[in-house]
Amino acid sequence: MALFTPGSVERVKEASDIVEVISAHTDLRRSGTRFTGLCPFHDERSPSFSVDPAEKLYHCFGCGVGGDVIKFVEEKEGLSFPDAVEALADRYGVELERESEDPRAEETRKKRARLTELLERTAGFYTTFLRDAPQAAKARDYLAGRGLSAEALAEFGVGCAPGTWDTILLRGQQAGYSVEEIEAAGLILRSQKGRGHYDRFRSRIVFPIRDARGRVQGFGARALRPDQKPKYVNSPEGELYSKRRTLYGIERARPQMVKSGRALVVEGYTDVIACHQAGMRDAVAIMGTAITPEQVKLLSAYAEEAVLALDADRAGREAMLRAQTVGGKALRLRVARMPEGQDPADLLAGGDGASANAFRAAIDSAEDLPVFHVHTLLDDGDLGSPAGRDRALDEVVEVIASMVDSITREELMREVADRLDADPSLITRRVASAGRVGGTSRRAAEAPPADERDASAEAAHEAPRALNARERRELGLLAMCVRMPTEGREVLDRLTPEHFSRPAAARAWAWIRDHVEDPLAGLSRDDPELLGYVTDVKMRSEQEPASPEAMELSLLELERAKVDDEIAAAESNGSPPVELQRRRAQLTERIARAQS
Ligand SMILES: [Zn+2]
Repeated sequence: MALFTPGSVERVKEASDIVEVISAHTDLRRSGTRFTGLCPFHDERSPSFSVDPAEKLYHCFGCGVGGDVIKFVEEKEGLSFPDAVEALADRYGVELERESEDPRAEETRKKRARLTELLERTAGFYTTFLRDAPQAAKARDYLAGRGLSAEALAEFGVGCAPGTWDTILLRGQQAGYSVEEIEAAGLILRSQKGRGHYDRFRSRIVFPIRDARGRVQGFGARALRPDQKPKYVNSPEGELYSKRRTLYGIERARPQMVKSGRALVVEGYTDVIACHQAGMRDAVAIMGTAITPEQVKLLSAYAEEAVLALDADRAGREAMLRAQTVGGKALRLRVARMPEGQDPADLLAGGDGASANAFRAAIDSAEDLPVFHVHTLLDDGDLGSPAGRDRALDEVVEVIASMVDSITREELMREVADRLDADPSLITRRVASAGRVGGTSRRAAEAPPADERDASAEAAHEAPRALNARERRELGLLAMCVRMPTEGREVLDRLTPEHFSRPAAARAWAWIRDHVEDPLAGLSRDDPELLGYVTDVKMRSEQEPASPEAMELSLLELERAKVDDEIAAAESNGSPPVELQRRRAQLTERIARAQS
C-alpha cells in the first residue's frame, strides 16, 4: 500500500471534526475546553472518556485507550490505517497525495481500482436492465411478488443479468477492459474447452454486494427459472470479495446500527431489502445460517448487540457460540425464534400485517444466544430417562460454564435444575468444575484457524482494563478532595500510601495532597501514568458531587480495604488476625451507620 504523504495525513486530521466523529459512538458533553462522555471502548457508568477538540486527541482514563481521530476510526470502525485515512478524506473532502510508491504496489492498487470501477459499471447496467428491459419482466414480477417496491430495489441497486452469453464480456471490452480484467473481477468464466469466455451471471436477479464504505465488492445472483442450478451463484472468492467477511446491506445499515447500537442479522438479500422497506434499517444479511467471527468483528465496530433472525440448525448454533467467543470484542448475540419455514421477507410481505407483527415481536423477545442454546438443548433432549437427562446435563453445563456470572445465568441454572428434575446444587457444582477444567481445554479446542488468528490476537492486545470498584472509590475520594479543597486537605492528610491498591494511585494521592488547589499545574508530561491518574481525578472533580459526609464514608471504606489487605498479609504469615478482624467489624458498623 502506498504511503500517503505526511502533509496529506496532516490535512485529513486538520479537516476532521473529532467531536463529530466520536459523537457517532458515544454522547459527548462539553466540560470546559474538553468534551467528556462514557468510554466507547469499555463498559462504565461514569464518564472517564475525554476528547480535546483543540489538540484533536481522545483519551480514556478508565482503560487507557487514546490517540488521534485516525486512530479512533481504525479502532472503532475496524478499518486499517490507509482505509481510515481514506474514509476521513472522503468525508471531509481532502485530496490525498501518495509518496512515490513501490511500482509493484502501485500496480496492485491501480488494478484493484479498475476492477472496482468495472464492478460499479456492471452493477449500473444490471440495474437499468431490471428496470427497463422487456426480458426482465419475469424478474420484476418475482420481486414484486415478494412485496419489494421499486424504490427499495433501486435503493439497493438490485439488477437483472440478461440470458445472453457475452453481454457483460462485450460491454467490458468496449469500455476498455481486457478479458483478463473482466475475469479477475469475477464477471466471466473460461469455457470448458479453454477457448473463449462467457458471462458468469445469466438470467438471474443480481444483488450488488458492497463494503461498509459502499464500494461494490461482488454480486450475489438468484436463479429466475426453477430448473436453473444452482439457485444462488456468488462472485468467486478473490481479491475483492470474501463471503466470510461480507455483510450484505452493511453500507445502508451502518448509520442506524451506530445510532441504536443494534444490528438485525437475517439470512438473505431479499430479507434485508424487505426489512429496510419496513423501516428496520439496521438489517444486514450473512448469506448463510452461521455468523462467522469476521462478521462478528465487523458488526462489533458499529453495534453492541446483534439480533439473529435466522433459521439456525444445531450446527449453525454451535458455530455462532464459537463466533461469539472468538470475536473478542463485546458483541451481545441474541436469537429471535423464527416461525418455522418462513423468512423475514415472507413475514413482512404477509397481507394483513399480523405476520409482520409476529416478526417484530420475535425480535423484541430475542433471547441471549447461550440461553437460546440451552433451551433448544433441553427441548431436543430425551428428558424421559435418567441417561437422557445426564446427556442433556453434560451439554448444557458446557454452555452455562462459558457464560459470564449474571442474574440471567443464575436463573438459567435454576431452570435447568427444574427441567432435569435435579438438585440445584448439582448444577452449580458441575458448572463450577466445567468452568475450571474447561477454562484451558476449551480455549485450546477452539484455537482459531490460521486466517482468524490475527483477529483474536488483536482482540487480546486491545482488551482494555476497566477500573475496579476499589480503584474507583480511591479516585472518587481524591476527586472530592479537589472539589472541596478546604475539607479535602484534612482528608488527604489522614490518608497513607497503604490506603491505595496501586502504587500509581498512591503517587497521585501524594501529588494531589501537595497541589490540591490546581493539581494539573506543573505536572510533568514525562510521567504518563501519574498524568493519567491526576487528569482522571481532575475530570471527576468537575463532574461528580462532593460532600463532607460522602468523603467520610469513602475514607472509612478505604480504611476497611486497607485492613482487608492487612488481614490477608497476616493470614499468609500464619498469624491469626484477631485484632484486625475486630477492627474490621468496627469499621463495617461505622460504614453502615454512615450510609443510613
Ligand atoms: Zn475506556
